[in-house]
This record gives sequence, C-alpha cells and structure tokens, in this order.
Amino acid sequence: MDELHYQLDLLTAMNQKLAVNEKMLRMICGTSTNAFLYYNFLECRLEVLGCFNKIFDFPINVISDFQNILEEIKKEFVTQARETIFAEEKKMENANVECCLQDGKTWLEFDVTVTYGQRGEPIEKIIRIRDISKYKKQNEELSYLAYYDTMTGLYNRNYFVSVLSAWVRKAEEENTLISVMCIDIDDFKKVNDGMGLVYGDELVQLLADFLRKYENENIIISHVNNDEFYIAIYDPFGAKSVTTIYDELCVRLSKPFVLSNKQEICVSVSVGVAEYPEAGKNSLELLNSSEIVMFRSKASGKNNIKYFEPPILKDFIDSVYMENKLKEAIVNNNFELYFQPQYDSETKKLRGMEALIRLHDIDDTLISPALFIPIAERCGMIIPIGNWVLEEGIRIFSEWKKKYKKPLILSLNISAIQYKKTDFVHNLLTVIDKYKVNHNEIELEITESILIEDFKQVEDKLHTLRERGIKISLDDFGTGFSSLSYLKGLPIDTLKIDKSFIDTVVDDSSTRVITESIVSMVKRLGYETVAEGVETQEQYEYLKQINCDNIQGFLLGRPMPESEFENLLQKHSV
Ligand code: C2E
Ligand code: CA
Ligand code: CA
Repeated sequence: MDELHYQLDLLTAMNQKLAVNEKMLRMICGTSTNAFLYYNFLECRLEVLGCFNKIFDFPINVISDFQNILEEIKKEFVTQARETIFAEEKKMENANVECCLQDGKTWLEFDVTVTYGQRGEPIEKIIRIRDISKYKKQNEELSYLAYYDTMTGLYNRNYFVSVLSAWVRKAEEENTLISVMCIDIDDFKKVNDGMGLVYGDELVQLLADFLRKYENENIIISHVNNDEFYIAIYDPFGAKSVTTIYDELCVRLSKPFVLSNKQEICVSVSVGVAEYPEAGKNSLELLNSSEIVMFRSKASGKNNIKYFEPPILKDFIDSVYMENKLKEAIVNNNFELYFQPQYDSETKKLRGMEALIRLHDIDDTLISPALFIPIAERCGMIIPIGNWVLEEGIRIFSEWKKKYKKPLILSLNISAIQYKKTDFVHNLLTVIDKYKVNHNEIELEITESILIEDFKQVEDKLHTLRERGIKISLDDFGTGFSSLSYLKGLPIDTLKIDKSFIDTVVDDSSTRVITESIVSMVKRLGYETVAEGVETQEQYEYLKQINCDNIQGFLLGRPMPESEFENLLQKHSV
C-alpha cells in the first residue's frame, strides 16, 4: 500500500514538474518572435508554439494545413519551400529556406529539423518560422548603397570600377577596345551658387535620367561626384560609339532642362575620352586619363569633346610635379625677383624695370616663369605668389628710390586671376603706401585675357587704379585679338609690342607695316610704347626710327638679380 502511495506521489510530482516545464516552454515560445511547428509522425500530432498567428492569419491544426503556408509563398520560392517543409520526403535531417510571401514585402525563414527512427522512418519534426523582412530590407539597402549612387540611381564609382575591371580582363582576352567617357557639366558651380544646391542636384538628376537610357549589357554609367559622370562602352563600335552618345547628348543639351520650380536651365558639358588599351591598362588608369582629358577639354573652352593623346598625360604629370614644386617653394621661399631694364629709345635713359619672377630648383637652377606661372594660375597658387611679387618688388624699388633718387617706373606683371580678386586694389594700395612709393611710379602689366571675361568689372577697376595715378600697361600686344578700336575706351598708359613682332620686324615687310601702324595709332591714342624682346642693333635702330618710345630686351639688358641691377643703377646715377 505504501508502495502504491509512493508511486502515486511520484507520478503527481512528475506531472506537476512536466506541467511547469510545459508552461515554461510555452512562455518562452510565446515571447519569441519565431513560430514553431512541432509534428509527431507516430502520433500524427501537431503542436503550434510561438507567434504563428502573428505571421499567418489562418490556424494550423493538421499536417495537410502546411499546404496553406505554401499558398502564401511567392511562386518562385514555392518548390524550395516545399522541399524544406517536407524535408522528410528527401530524408533530410536539416533544411533551411528564405522565401518571400505573395505581398512581396514579407520575408520568412524556414528552418526544419527531422529526427528518424532506426529504420529511417521520420519520428518528429520541428519547423521554425522566422520573419526576416527587417534584415532583408537592411541587406537590400546595404547592397543598394554598395552598387548605386543614391542621388541619381546610377552605379556608384566603386561598382563602376569593379565592372570596368572585369571588362578590361575580358577585352584583353578578346583583343577589343573599351571607351571611357568622362562627362562634366560646365560652370556647374554657377548653377549651384545661383540657384542653390537643391536645384543643382535636380539638374544632375535630370542629366542622369537622360544618360541612363544608354545603359545596356555593354554600356555602364556612373555618377561619381557633383556633376561628373562616367560612361564605359565595351567594344565601342556602330550604334553605341562615343560619337553617337556625344552627338545625342549635344542635341539634348541644345534644349533647356526644366526644374521642379519651372525654371529652365541650359548647360553644356565638357567630355574627355580615354580608350583601353591606349590610355590605360586598368580601370583606374582609364578613369584618370579620361578625367585629365576632360579637364583639358574644359581648359580649351568648354562645351567640347577631347580624345586622349599621350602628350596630354605627360603635360598633366609635369604639371602635378610643378604644383608640388610650387607648394614647396611657397613654404621655403624659393622665389627670387629679377629685374630687366627698360630704356628710352631716343636718349637711352633708364625708364625703369620690369620685375620678373624666378623659381630656384633644388639644384639651384632657375625655372622659367613661362613654365610655372600658367600652372600656378590653374591651381590658385598665383595668389600668394603674386602677392609676394608685389610686396618684394615694391620693397626693393623703394630701397633703390631712397638710395638713388631717380625717377623710375617699376613694372609688375599681374595675372588675370590676381586682378579679379575683389581685394586686389586695396592690397596693392596698402603695399604701395607701406613702402611710401608714389602711385605713378608703379605700372601694372596686364594681358588682354583679363578683358575677355568681365569687361565691365575690369574696366571699373582699371579706372579706380588710374584715378589713383597707377599706370596700366597692356602686355604682349599683338598676340591676342589686339583690336585698337576696342582699346580706345580703356584707361591704358602703355602698350608693349610683343616680341613676336620684334623678331621679324627687320626681315618681314608686312610685320613692319603692322608695327608702324600700331606705333602711330598708339601715339595718337596717347599711349606710350615699349618694344620688348629687342635683341639686335638693327631692331633697335628701326624701332627708334619709327618712334617707338621705349626699348626692353637682351640687347640693352637681360633680366638680372637685385644686386646686379643695383650696379646698373649706380652706373646710371653717375
Ligand atoms: P612677359 O611679361 O612677356 O615678360 C617678358 C619675357 O621676355 C621675360 O621672360 C623676359 O625675360 C623675356 N625677354 C625680355 N627680353 C628678351 C629678349 O630680348 N629676348 C628673349 N628671348 N627674351 C626676352 P621670363 O622672365 O621668362 O617671363 C616669362 C613670362 O612669365 C612673362 O612674360 C610673364 O608673362 C610671366 N611672368 C614673369 N614674372 C611674373 C610675375 O611676377 N607675375 C606674373 N603673373 N607673371 C610673370
Ligand atoms: Ca610683362
Ligand atoms: Ca610681354
């Protein structure tokens, strides 16, 4: 009897424990975001745990209800889902599938475990169903970010480079060409500054929409930054050549883009083209080459297409080298001013001097400004360099003035970029005042290129300078458009006849005719003339004879360092 009691107590205790365990199990499953389907094959018993009813809106009671699950699944995933859910049919112990439901948004993961008896018959099966929509979406977003540019929906640079790299390998095997076009909107900064970044972005998107239509298995397009696009064309012949795309693009650009604020905007583009294998052996070299060519195309007047040629690359490498040298020179103050004398042609009296900058290389050779000034202008370093020339030139000139007390004129070369700065006049006057130099002892040499961009603004500045008594000299006359009638209204004091005229003036009668008419016309306009690059006695005699006022050139004096020029001043003061 005791034994019976004991057995009963034990059973009750065990049942209680089981009930507690089951409750715990249900609680755990209930808080889980998974649904669990347990199926016992021997007892044909199906248990549903977890949040099945949060995932599906139908109950599941018997194994044939599994079919209902399959009906919810998108067609292309059904076969795989069936094989997983009914893993026992293929005697699998574990199976797993991720599938999307008919709504196209919900993603579920099915994870199935089946246990088997000794004869291989299925005993139990657990199907875990998990809603993975959130992770899928994050993954999709991540992979979108990995491949696409969010602003335009075109490929981003990384993906473009990886496809282009694969194409380069293929082109090597197939011995074919790849063209890479770099397309950049001209004066995009003006669009952004004038209309705001939002409309700038909109313009880029509109252009991207136009370019997108060229995308196919052999053409990929990328938006890389701001207003820069790349197109790579595999085997670029026939209908998908660079020229067809460029021609169609030009037709599109001949009409305005209409922005969301109804404003219409017309833009042009500069295009650089680089071809594999000539312009680069790998994707990055191709991108770089096409970009360098695009910059070249911009520099030669915008709204233009240019094709790669090896000298373009060489120039670029040289200019990068020079840029680094200039940066170094600014830090280490490796510049020096040379001075070249200018003489009155009639009396041979010293009129003044032109300050000409020199750059000392590491081996102490001198680098010509003809080489580094254009590069300094391109990269903006002309501003600190130009300021240094102003200060150093005027400082030295003021010392000479104090010492030699001679009426002389200091000519300073001013780059268009320097001249355009709003604080240019103010800075110049500050330096002139600092060294107590008279305004009419300073002459600024400007070139016609200054006048091209914003005539009105330039003219106003010239008038301000002129009112202060500062002289203005038009440099390199004869190399630009050189229209004398155009110059009539400008406040100019001096005109420098370019060396190219002087070179041929003795031998070439037509140059003589032009030079003579320039000199007489200039005299009538009331300007002074300076002939530059005078190297021979014959040239000098001729120029004197036609009444050219002043002479500058190797014949009478080369550009020389400060100390040497001082010797010359001493000589002249005796
Ligand atoms: P530029 O203003 O036309 O200067 C005249 C150039 O002709 C100078 O070259 C001068 O050395 C050279 N030259 C003068 N007489 C003769 C001659 O009889 N025969 C020959 N063959 N050449 C002669 P440089 O000093 O090499 O300067 C070249 C250019 O660099 C200058 O041309 C000017 O445009 C620019 N540059 C020089 N210094 C400065 C500067 O401080 N600022 C700016 N913005 N440009 C400068
Ligand atoms: Ca000059
Ligand atoms: Ca000149």
